[in-house]
Amino acid sequence: MMRCEATTPYWWDVAGTPTSPPMLDLPVEVDVVVVGAGLTGVSAARSTARLGRSVLCLDAGAPGQGASSVNGGMVGGGHRLSIDELERRYGHDVAVRLLSEAHLESGAFVRGVIEDEAIECDFVETGRFRGLWRDAEYESAGRALSRLQSLIPVDAEMVPRGRQRDEVATDVYRGGTVYPRHGGLNPAKLAAGLLDAAVRAGAVVQGDTPVTSVAWSGSGLEVTTSRGTVRARDVLVATNGYTPSSLRDHKRRIVPLTSFLVATEELGVQRLMELFPRGRMVVESRDRHCYYRASPDGRRLVFGGRAAMFDAPEALVRRELRRLIQQIFPQLEDVTLTHSWRGRTGFSFDYLPNVGQLDGVWHAMGYSGSGNTMAPWLGHKAALLIAGDPEGETAFTHTDLPTRFWHQGPPWFMPFADVGFRFRDAWNNMRRRS
Ligand SMILES: Cc1cc2nc3c(=O)[nH]c(=O)nc-3n(C[C@H](O)[C@H](O)[C@H](O)COP(=O)(O)OP(=O)(O)OC[C@H]3O[C@@H](n4cnc5c(N)ncnc54)[C@H](O)[C@@H]3O)c2cc1C
Repeated sequence: MMRCEATTPYWWDVAGTPTSPPMLDLPVEVDVVVVGAGLTGVSAARSTARLGRSVLCLDAGAPGQGASSVNGGMVGGGHRLSIDELERRYGHDVAVRLLSEAHLESGAFVRGVIEDEAIECDFVETGRFRGLWRDAEYESAGRALSRLQSLIPVDAEMVPRGRQRDEVATDVYRGGTVYPRHGGLNPAKLAAGLLDAAVRAGAVVQGDTPVTSVAWSGSGLEVTTSRGTVRARDVLVATNGYTPSSLRDHKRRIVPLTSFLVATEELGVQRLMELFPRGRMVVESRDRHCYYRASPDGRRLVFGGRAAMFDAPEALVRRELRRLIQQIFPQLEDVTLTHSWRGRTGFSFDYLPNVGQLDGVWHAMGYSGSGNTMAPWLGHKAALLIAGDPEGETAFTHTDLPTRFWHQGPPWFMPFADVGFRFRDAWNNMRRRS
């Protein structure tokens, strides 16, 4: 029997609901204002403070309440674009650096921060299995992996269909790729731990203080908030999928795509070990892909997917995610869902994040669904770039963050995209054996 009692993220039940630090009077002037206190914002705030600069990081709600504390908790990088496509767009050298930062440097950075700041976030290097949806993908994924490994030292291997059940107890995939260095954690604990680290470094972080405008005034920027105005030499916009209408230039470059998650009742450690014999995180190659894992205590299934590409009603979401769980694990037919929640990813039109400036206002955004390593990494890089530190050099200043003339702010087109992707799914399902 299907039941779903909660709509708060499972992670919050374990880690506590994100809360705002005590309210302080806002400073009149700082070196840097960071708008948004998710992983990007608090990482930028921490690095800015460590450089000895004054920084105020503001969030419209509780810091971390955006995607950062509600996501799937999977750690490890990669790009949606093929290596050929990256080379075609940016040339060989930048393409290799984009790959290296996403696969290697960003992960190393986040592991380092977790260790240095002693952040207890249940991080375990579980490895991740990427299941392939179509027969033909096994060969092309193998070729892509060889090419990637000829460019950078990524630890990964192909797993044929015959060995797939060693990774995950399902027959739906046509084999896949394993990335042993990827991992899993509780994202609410990571977001809270990074926030504490930023405050310890000297950053002022304030919640419940939406920024309502950013405008040039003389040689500095004037940041208007619900609690008054602050002058800043530089401003970093770190709002990703939650970018507000007041930051229209940025909003027009981000497609806020809702992703949905559920957690099951406790199924027991033994049952979860049967589903994930090696404790892997799992993602898929299909367009509207699912991503799922055992909870850090090894007792529940935490399952995410694009049940819809818009803010769909709860009943529809639960029905669709339940259908997907049963498609992958028919053995979980009667499972009870105890938690159901959602969050907004921030897709860029070229599926790549970007660090840069629009009219002199900095931004780091566009993680396109994969930000647990990239968001802290690019927040850090943005802080260094703003300070004029040569260590801020990153290939993600070479990406574009383009807009489209038909995206003026509100994402009116998402229900249409939803229909388009459903057709693509149906088409790919028909071609599974090709
Ligand atoms: C359901 C889901 C599952 C995901 N799973 C994974 C995963 O398993 N692995 C992975 O790597 N990535 C995953 N992601 C992506 C990842 O969570 C994001 O890329 C990352 O958290 C982005 O961090 P951020 O700090 O840039 O943005 P966010 O964490 O979204 O923070 C943006 C902040 O801006 C604030 N804000 C908005 N407007 C204003 C304003 N006017 N003034 C001040 N503040 C404002 C918001 O309140 C919010 O706190 C997932 C995302 C979602 C939604």
